[in-house]
Amino acid sequence: MESAHNYWMKKAIKLAKIGATKGEVPIGAILVRHSEDLGTDIIVADAVHNDVCPQKIAEAYNSKETLNDPTAHAEILVIREAAKKLNNWRLLDTILYITAEPCAMCAGAIIQSRIPLIVYGCREERFGAVDSSYQLFNDPRSNHHPEVISGILEKECKDLLQAFFETLRRGGRVVEGGSLENCSTGNCTGGSNPSLSAKT
Ligand SMILES: [Zn+2]
Repeated sequence: MESAHNYWMKKAIKLAKIGATKGEVPIGAILVRHSEDLGTDIIVADAVHNDVCPQKIAEAYNSKETLNDPTAHAEILVIREAAKKLNNWRLLDTILYITAEPCAMCAGAIIQSRIPLIVYGCREERFGAVDSSYQLFNDPRSNHHPEVISGILEKECKDLLQAFFETLRRGGRVVEGGSLENCSTGNCTGGSNPSLSAKT
């Protein structure tokens, strides 16, 4: 049987791809309930995933461009929605799945919301604030130290980001369904958004 981490990361990747079709840097995040038996949970989740999955609390993709909101990273949107849904800013007994390593803003929000475990796909060497550029969760001055599992479906997560930026650099765009298309094919009427050539 597929591992729970793979299962949820695939869902997060799907979200990231939806974001890409809207011109967003493809990063997806899902917050789920943390329970003792993750294996059984997948079966339950799979059976009822569409909208009523009992495990899933909130999901989002990076929406900075769409919302014109510099704080609209996938993790922030998920944390906001989950806290509202649960009527509690402490997101205890949850797992946050993210396709890429969180930045400093998101790592801060994860600490603030007391999420106990995060699972991410690929590292973000330049802006990552969990393992790469900063190690905020290890700071002894912090009052909360989330556990981290990394490298889940790492290649898929990384390839998605690389393909997105490569297409933008070539002046292409991302088409519906999450696939990438280049302007040189003649199908592109849009053109890249220059602000996207910088990282989120
Ligand atoms: Zn972030």
